[in-house]
Formats: sequence, structure tokens, C-alpha cells
Amino acid sequence: MLWPGCQEGHVSRASRSHRYRIESPLPVLDDLRQRRPNKRNRVEEVLRVRGFRSIGILLLAFWVGIGLPGCHRASDPRPNLVLISIDTLRSDRLGCYGYDRDTTPRLDALAARGTRFESVVAPANWTLPSHVTMLTGLSPHTHGVVRPDVSASPRVRFLAEYLAGAGYGTWAETDGGYVGAAYGFDRGFDHFADDPTPFADKLARALAQLDSGSPQFCFIHTYDVHCPYVPSAEFRGLFRSEGSEFVETEGRCGNPHFNGVSLTAGQVSYLSDRYDEGVREADHDLGWFCDELHRRGLDENTIVMIVSDHGEELGEHGQIGHERTLHREALLVPWIVFGPGIHPGRVGTTVGLADVTPTILDLAGLGPIDVAAGRSRRAVLRGTTATVRAHPQFSESSDGCSLVSVVADRWHLIVDRDGGRWSLFSWDDDRREAQDLATTRPDRVRSLLECFRKDGPEETVQALQTALTREERERLRSLGYVN
Ligand SMILES: [Zn+2]
Repeated sequence: MLWPGCQEGHVSRASRSHRYRIESPLPVLDDLRQRRPNKRNRVEEVLRVRGFRSIGILLLAFWVGIGLPGCHRASDPRPNLVLISIDTLRSDRLGCYGYDRDTTPRLDALAARGTRFESVVAPANWTLPSHVTMLTGLSPHTHGVVRPDVSASPRVRFLAEYLAGAGYGTWAETDGGYVGAAYGFDRGFDHFADDPTPFADKLARALAQLDSGSPQFCFIHTYDVHCPYVPSAEFRGLFRSEGSEFVETEGRCGNPHFNGVSLTAGQVSYLSDRYDEGVREADHDLGWFCDELHRRGLDENTIVMIVSDHGEELGEHGQIGHERTLHREALLVPWIVFGPGIHPGRVGTTVGLADVTPTILDLAGLGPIDVAAGRSRRAVLRGTTATVRAHPQFSESSDGCSLVSVVADRWHLIVDRDGGRWSLFSWDDDRREAQDLATTRPDRVRSLLECFRKDGPEETVQALQTALTREERERLRSLGYVN
């Protein structure tokens, strides 16, 4: 069993075409059974067009003398691009997103110099599909990597492949698990390592890579904030809630009910404190990294993005972790961008992680590309526009079957497909999603359900079976992902 409560039939290829089937007396819900004609053809067309474009980019790179990866011109004006994913970092635990604890003094200062997207929705509540979306711009339904036993098809092009083809040096180090080579994350990288090494060490090696010449694309990923919430000794005990009670965390990750442990309020506070300390530690490492960028003069030509793949529930709706929940604490993540030419400001419009790849490609000078889900946000980052067009943001749960949600116009609808129920929350009036308005606002329910039918995620077109090594399975087990 890979995911508690997930039935095999729910994630089979055959059943995936019915992911949004919901039994309902409302006619509009019945419409969700209908798939738009030729969706599959549309997605394949997008991928085919993108394939030709990448060949064109490669030919152009040779023509202008940029050449192959590793052959960078000293006078190349294109910026270095650094993408840092702090796994499981919910945005509301950062000071610059309104948290009242001093978890992120360094990031708060960095965010004030750049652009902060206030409302960023993860496409899934777990690591694998969300990172593939982040690094391809494709929705989970399009890239198809929505189960632990599949990896991305070669037809799915990753961000690093585009950038390598355009002459960027490409370097990545991740903490492995679901962000490993086994799932295709190494594609396009000159250097890729997926060993669980300290975040600070990865950042130090990234600095050395940036020192070696530009332009570079560096991707760094860490599980430092992830369960089992064990910060370094230097940060342990930094935060202490009143009434906090110790609870063992090892071996209890990956289960929304903490492996059957009935937690007291004090124990939930204990977990929340340790989580915050992990955030503070990551903030410390990021601060050091940016100090070093400045000391080495790299900050003059390096744009840095801080993101996460999903959030974390810490007792708000009766669970611990990010499994089997699509509430906002599990979906809303930070997206902070700073560096040369980045306009200081805040973006209130809700955007999605699928926007990361087209935005980075646009900043690299490759222009906006046609991808199924993401949109470039370069214009707002450069300050040439103050408006960001809103689009519905869709998400799905870790078991790949039971929960789906959509955010539109600051309303959030969570649909429990198995139970045939739904919940509605107003993000303007209810930041904790404590009041379900589904029965009092059927008009909103109806319009959000309509979003699924009109703009819902594309049909899955590719995924490959993948075989994990013993070491990879052990890594996932330590994070609570497999039994
Ligand atoms: Zn994750």
C-alpha cells in the first residue's frame, strides 16, 4: 500500500478519465462527467509544438555562438537563475506573509526588495506531481506523474532541458525521495545529485557553480522543513508555545493522523513549534546564501526564486501533514523573487506553481512558451505591468483520487469525490477555512463546479512506470511516504 486509503482502482489509467466524476443531483455536476472532445489531441499538439520550438532554440543558440552547455560566453548578459524549493513550506508561516512569529527575518527583508506573490496555489498536496508541475509548467493531468510508480515521459520537457538547449549551465542538487533522477528530474542538468545532504552545503556548492561562469540555472531542493520536524540543535527550542507537550515524530510521518496517535493540543503545539524552527533554520541558510551572493558580486546578475511544492497542516482541520487534505494550509506556498531588474512589489492575484517554468524561461530571454497550465509572470516581475490576469487554480490530493479543489475569485471549493460532498470557503473572510459556506452559497458552488467543466485540468497523456532502487525506497520510507 502506497497511500493510506487510496484504492488501486482510483489511480488506474482507465479510471483517470473519470477523476472528476461526482454524483450529484445538480445538473451542472453531472456535466463534470463529460470530457471535452479532442482534449488529448490538444495536449499532444502543445507538446509537439514545444518540441519543434526547443529544436529551434538549440539551432538559434549555435547560430549566435552560445553553443553547448558548459561553453558560456564571458560577455553573455543573461542572468543567472536560482530556483530554491523548500519542501512543505506553507506561506502563512513566513513573516512577510503575515505570520506573527519571527520565523523568517532574512526572507522578509529579501522579499521587500523583490516581488512577492501573495497567493500561490500548489497543483497537488504532495511532492512528486507538484514538483513536476513546477519544473515543466504542465498540470498534473498533462504530465501524468501522479503516482509513486510512474515517472515523466521523455515527451515531457523539463525547464532545465530548455535552458541547457539555450546555452545555460544547468546544475541541481535535491534531497531525493520524490525529487530524484528516478522520476526524471535530472533531465537537462549538467550536474544532478539527489542525496540528502544539508541545505547549507547544497547552497555552498551552488555558489561555487555560480562562480564558475554565467549564465547558470541552479535548482536546489531541501526537506529541512518536512516531517519529522527535526531542526538542528542551534534552532531547537527557539519557539515554545504555552502548554507544549513532547511527542515522538520519528516513524509517524506520512499519515494524517500521525499513525493513529491521538494528539493533545499541547502535542500539536509542540509539532508546530518544531516546524517553525525548521522554517527559521532554512531562513538562516538562505540569508547566508544571499550574503555570499553579494560578497562575491554575484547578486548583480543573479535572480533568486524561493518556492515550495505544497504546505502542511498542523492541526487546523484535525490532521498533521499534507495527506488527504486540500485546505489552504496544505496548498498555499510562497513564491518570492528578487534580484537585478525585479520590481519591488506584491501580487495579490492568485497564481499557480505551473507559472514558475514559463516565468523563468521568459526571464532567460526565451519568451513565453505555450504550456498547458502555466503562464509567464515576467511582466509583473519587471514592473512593466501591475495587473496579473486571474485563472482558476486546480489541485488534487495525494491519493490521486479522492479530493479535488479549485480556487477562483478568492473562493475555494473542495470536492470529496468519493463521498459526493463539497465544502466552500471564502479566502477574503475566513483565512483558516473554519466556516463551510456550501449550503448558504449554492450559487458559488455552482459556478466553481462549472470551472471544472470549462477549464478543468487536461487529460493525462504520459507517464512511465518507474522502478525505485532499495535506497530510493528507504529515503521515501524515512519521509513517511511508503510502508
Ligand atoms: Zn513535498
